[in-house]
Amino acid sequence: MAVTFKETYGLFIGGEFTPALSGETFDVFNPATGEKLAAAAKAEAADVDRAVKAAWSAFPQWAAMNVRDRSELLWAISDIVEENLEYLTEIETLNNGKLLREARCDIEDVVDQFRYFASCIRSGEGSYVDQGDGNFNILKREPLGVVGQIVPWNYPLSMACWKIAPAMAAGNCIVIKPASSTPLSLLIFAELVQSVIPAGVLNIVTGGGGSCGEALAAHPDIRKIAFTGSTAVGAKIGAIAGGNIIPSTLELGGKSAQILFPDCQWDRALDSVCEGILSNAGQICSAGSRAFIHADIYDEFVQALTERFQAVKVGNGMDDESEMGPVIDSHQLEVILDYVTIGKAEGARLATGGNRKCGGDFDKGYFMEPTLFADVTNQMRIAQEEIFGPVLACIRFTDEKEVIDMANDSPYGLAGSVWTQDINRGIRVAGAIGAGLVWINAFGLYPAGTSFGGYKKSGYGREAHKTTLDSYSQMKSIFVATAE
Ligand code: NAD
Repeated sequence: MAVTFKETYGLFIGGEFTPALSGETFDVFNPATGEKLAAAAKAEAADVDRAVKAAWSAFPQWAAMNVRDRSELLWAISDIVEENLEYLTEIETLNNGKLLREARCDIEDVVDQFRYFASCIRSGEGSYVDQGDGNFNILKREPLGVVGQIVPWNYPLSMACWKIAPAMAAGNCIVIKPASSTPLSLLIFAELVQSVIPAGVLNIVTGGGGSCGEALAAHPDIRKIAFTGSTAVGAKIGAIAGGNIIPSTLELGGKSAQILFPDCQWDRALDSVCEGILSNAGQICSAGSRAFIHADIYDEFVQALTERFQAVKVGNGMDDESEMGPVIDSHQLEVILDYVTIGKAEGARLATGGNRKCGGDFDKGYFMEPTLFADVTNQMRIAQEEIFGPVLACIRFTDEKEVIDMANDSPYGLAGSVWTQDINRGIRVAGAIGAGLVWINAFGLYPAGTSFGGYKKSGYGREAHKTTLDSYSQMKSIFVATAE
């Protein structure tokens, strides 16, 4: 199916697309070309309220559906996504700018998430607690009700489905808000699957963060808010949820360490460090943005990385030859360029990159050069703050304890990796890193079942794992007294 966008996309409420009550819309752009792709309805608080009401109307029947039917329905969604894999891939690339191959991985991941949770719920069981004298508890889990979800622009459809799949699987109805720069793949997903999802189970409100997003997070009738985005906004969402006495899960920023010992498998490590910071143009919460490289290999490894960075073909994600796409918008580009200035002022050595790509088609979009800073110390701002762009900070270390201390000396704790062929050291160092996910001899793999989520300022809660179902449900205990 060739991609043609509608002129305007409505909100998806109660199984139908509908304009915002105000009639207002906002424009959605392609970050590689600057061209307008479509407009989307601009939801305000009253629209969010409509969506929450529609979700509650659907809830009793959805929650009562037997698990086998719900599982099959999730599976049917995954089949539809799989049938439309290339179509959704192109939509994601056009709206987000990422390479087609990156977008394809995202959509394959969506398929996998639905199948994973469809399978998990088939094996769910409650429990029985003997209380003596003929008394016992039956423990079972019940859905929360209507849940709110807010997602960012860097993995528009896959981040949305990391939340939608477990929430639906656990029997909840959903009101979800995509980022205003990238709403299209989620809206088109809804068009594709609306025939199999009962009306009102999934509702989508599009609009600004401070208006539509805050109205959703603060709505008095939601029973949980799940948020993925920046640490600054996450702190606000957590406070709002606390005030309303509802649970929140917060998947936030990161500054992940890739630790390279002298016995690392050179080529694989080199590939992985490049991928870890250049894929998605570095706009990844778990980006391996700090490379800790042992002094014995530091100079040679940095030189090899520099050559790789210089060879990367930056271009439109729709072009199969491109190896790195644009960043999302002019604001993000400015943020990244500011950090380049900061890094230079801090005394780091700019080994390559550091500029916006200019000339010809580059001028229409927001393209950044792959950027590598050498001779970085862990105290520099470019090593402490999330840049969210293709900027790698290379830091030298000499022993294991030192590198563990430096890796952990960060406000964040989302992910990390250790590269060594000494498996004891790999496990020891992975265990000592304060992060929710640490790879040994790999980076950036998140298949369903992996468990993803942060320590410290990277947030709390876990996704892509069967325990996510627990965070979308609550324990019901039924005490039964059978003693005569
Ligand atoms: P952001 O925090 O600006 O926005 C995220 C979402 O929140 C968007 O939908 C936005 O419209 C909405 N929002 C903004 N202000 C809001 C408010 N006051 N109230 C309610 N909603 C509001 O983040 P972003 O720029 O879209 O995404 C980049 C950030 O997301 C990075 O920090 C990145 O690390 C993080 N991220 C984390 C994960 C993870 O799983 N830990 C995954 C992807 C991205």
